[in-house]
Amino acid sequence: MRKLRIGIIDLVTRSPTKALYSRVMNANLASIMPQILGVWCEEDGHEVSLITYTGFENLIEEIPSDIDLLMVSGFTQAAQLSYAISAMFQARGVVTCLGGPHARCYPQDSQKYFDYVLGFTDQETLRTMLDECTPNRPLGKHLYAETQPQSLPGVRARWKFIEPTLKKAPILKIVPMLGSLGCPYSCSFCIDSEVKYQPLDFDDMKEDLRFLLTKFKRPRVGWHDPNFGVRFEENITAIEEAVPQGSIDFIAESSLALLSEPKVKRLAKNGFKALLPGIESWYDMGNKSKTGKKQGIEKVDQVVEHANMLLRHVPYLQTNFVMGLDGDEGPIPFELTKRFLDNSPGSFPAYSLLTAFGQAAPLNLEYQEADRVLPFPFHFLNNNHAMNVKPLNYEWIEFYDHVIDVSKHSFSKQAVWRRLKSNDGAIPKFLNTVRAISSEGKGRIQYYTKIRNMLENDTGFRAYFEAETDVLPEFFKNRIRSELGPFWEHLPEGAMYHDPHAYLKSTGGTPKRSLEPQIQMAASN
Ligand code: SF4
Repeated sequence: MRKLRIGIIDLVTRSPTKALYSRVMNANLASIMPQILGVWCEEDGHEVSLITYTGFENLIEEIPSDIDLLMVSGFTQAAQLSYAISAMFQARGVVTCLGGPHARCYPQDSQKYFDYVLGFTDQETLRTMLDECTPNRPLGKHLYAETQPQSLPGVRARWKFIEPTLKKAPILKIVPMLGSLGCPYSCSFCIDSEVKYQPLDFDDMKEDLRFLLTKFKRPRVGWHDPNFGVRFEENITAIEEAVPQGSIDFIAESSLALLSEPKVKRLAKNGFKALLPGIESWYDMGNKSKTGKKQGIEKVDQVVEHANMLLRHVPYLQTNFVMGLDGDEGPIPFELTKRFLDNSPGSFPAYSLLTAFGQAAPLNLEYQEADRVLPFPFHFLNNNHAMNVKPLNYEWIEFYDHVIDVSKHSFSKQAVWRRLKSNDGAIPKFLNTVRAISSEGKGRIQYYTKIRNMLENDTGFRAYFEAETDVLPEFFKNRIRSELGPFWEHLPEGAMYHDPHAYLKSTGGTPKRSLEPQIQMAASN
């Protein structure tokens, strides 16, 4: 096998930035899989340079100029950035490859801009690509394994990539770890609902935790498991056996249903400082919150009690909501969220607008069949800057009015103050306040208000949201152009647009409506 010089870029952001919150947190958003690919490439004798792009680096300077292969990983919001980067490197004769969530959600579109597109990737899949490593244009090769890998290199093996990434984080340094892959639940909107649940080796986990204690006085670990509570007993026992109680701080996502008070007490004893449960909706997903068939106000009151119990033991609680789900109708779902926040003032609400990420989840096929998916450029698909599913029970203006109202309520001075008083510890107080006054709180209120006003006053803008035209409003074009900055000029022709029905077509279905993606725009700019 020929020895390759390989560059790996983990895109944790969609564009260059100078934002304070990004400076503090972006390096902590590094993905695990690019680091794993780096380890596997080196095991096979290749030379690797990995960079976690947080929005502050100069990629051209940091990636060696003489690489043979560039591997990029990113979420869908970074797709346009990744396409521009691929074009830059392809123009220099480099073979390019895309992996990560965007490659899994939109393989057909990604194939137009990369020589290789990776789905589930194990060592075999990677080797197939490395052995070949040739340009595939105009359509890249789609390679994937049938399932997720059975085992993954741990923290010790990934340390040479973790350490330089964490050096970029000025205050909090969070080491990414995985105890399991997939999820046994089947929330129809979730990318992990179709991935078989699989715990990873507990001995490897223990070894990683012990290793971290040799690197930090008090390490912080962010579990990237989709649902950490699934094998609660095994996970927590492994932690208890590996390291002295409370010597490492942990952050984890878990369903509320799996977090009974005895379990939460045990988590707290073992250093869990932040929990991120998904509530999603007051009218759906009762199995996740252990609220069963309870809906509406009954569910709110039960979840309030549960959230407040968590906050008695764990200092930081982020509750996740999806706005615009089909089970929601009228003002009541939003009023219930306000009631929840009034009664659980220490919780930080993280809102997502309903988004169908290509072929990530089974529900997306239904949305495409029902002709409800809109072709917003990927750059805006970050759960907030565009909602690419037409809501079932709301008119757009009505919907945005509710979103603005609940956001204002959540990030008002009174709410921030009440949260500050309810939170214990400097870090939760600091994070919650910064989040509320930065782009996530105040920034989004301004953005949503702008969108709402354009929906009212600009007929072309409204027509795009109503799927009456595929002519992308200038507002979105201009925003991509200014946010991509120096990468804009490398964005290939047509790369702003994608086929919103690609998933349906890949299953042999025919969309009711066929809007031709525009390609003239990139050429004319
Ligand atoms: S419980 Fe969470 S991780 Fe599991 S399928 Fe539902 S949303 Fe996804």
